[in-house]
Amino acid sequence: LGETKIAVVGASGVGKSALAVRFLTKRFIGEYDQSNDAKYKCTTCIDGETVAFELLDTRSNNDDNGTRDDVLRWADGFMLVYSVTSRESFDSLIEIQKKIEETKKGVHVPISVVGNKSDLAHIRQVTQDEGVKQAAEFGCSFLEVSASEDVLKVTEAFHVLCKEVVEF
Ligand code: GDP
Ligand code: MG
Repeated sequence: LGETKIAVVGASGVGKSALAVRFLTKRFIGEYDQSNDAKYKCTTCIDGETVAFELLDTRSNNDDNGTRDDVLRWADGFMLVYSVTSRESFDSLIEIQKKIEETKKGVHVPISVVGNKSDLAHIRQVTQDEGVKQAAEFGCSFLEVSASEDVLKVTEAFHVLCKEVVEF
């Protein structure tokens, strides 16, 4: 119990903190501290079972996308977040996934791809289909969510990843 470690990574501004806070508090507050990593201990109920885990909301500066070596070594599972409004954030997933693979050296590490800000349809740059395809190439799960408008999908995204980590 309490040994599962999940890191939320991805480009700056994609909504990593918004997703973590939405999951933990069910609320969306609009502005989030950008200056530090935030680590939370949490328990959640998945299929009637209580699962305890640690959640790391990474601070991503300029171009590390939250994937510092210590973060990569620390986590047992990764949520790879991009914003559907940012092609650049979507493109960065490839490098993030590569870094995770390199760090874990052949050990299977559950990851999930999450496309955030699905509410911003008018400025969307990445289609849902592209997200589906990228996740299929990584061999991982995929969800589009909106941290600002939808609690259920956000919760589901964390639960899907948690389950994979726990079962492994
Ligand atoms: P981080 O740098 O990845 O942690 O991104 P933040 O969580 O700080 O979010 C960056 C900005 O995007 C903030 O102004 C949030 O309010 C906004 N944001 C985050 N998620 C969503 C979302 O799902 N929809 C919309 N419209 N804005 C969002
Ligand atoms: Mg943040």
